[in-house]
Amino acid sequence: MRRVFFPDADGNPTDADHFLALLKLFAGSIECGDCLLWQGGTNANGAPKLYDTSARRLMWEAHHDRPLEPHELVTVTCEKVNCLHIEHLALTDKSAAAVLGNASLAVRARKSAACAKAARPFAKLDIAKVREMRARRATDTIDTLGAEFGVDRSLVARILRNESWRELASPFAGLMGTL
Ligand SMILES: [Zn+2]
Repeated sequence: MRRVFFPDADGNPTDADHFLALLKLFAGSIECGDCLLWQGGTNANGAPKLYDTSARRLMWEAHHDRPLEPHELVTVTCEKVNCLHIEHLALTDKSAAAVLGNASLAVRARKSAACAKAARPFAKLDIAKVREMRARRATDTIDTLGAEFGVDRSLVARILRNESWRELASPFAGLMGTL
């Protein structure tokens, strides 16, 4: 519950409460570049807390001198979760916050899909396939192996020369050519 020092007749915080909250918020923060970074308690997500209340909400209410509606959420725009600088706080609501969250999830999904695609040439091979290629070097050509395993013939050649996918620790590495 919010601690109210000088409530009005309806129990709402007054200018004096806002002033005291501002004093405590500034006293508990350090200026860091353009940001005002809270050094006090936080919730589990690292968002600043004062008197078990969101310090972002206290800062916003004190600055704008009006209470926030429950559906109004205060978000931080500078990506520093403990920043209380009034110019880095923005009003949002649950649906806008959800859209933002979905957007960043979609971006992450696209990025990871792009990374998976980019990494695919390297994922075509594993050590079992490399051993099979080396075992078949006497009977199959580089072109045949390359086509069958879906890799470039230059990579097949490097694998057969033990320049790629080297198996230094294998006691059988030297025997491969005789199999
Ligand atoms: Zn900031």
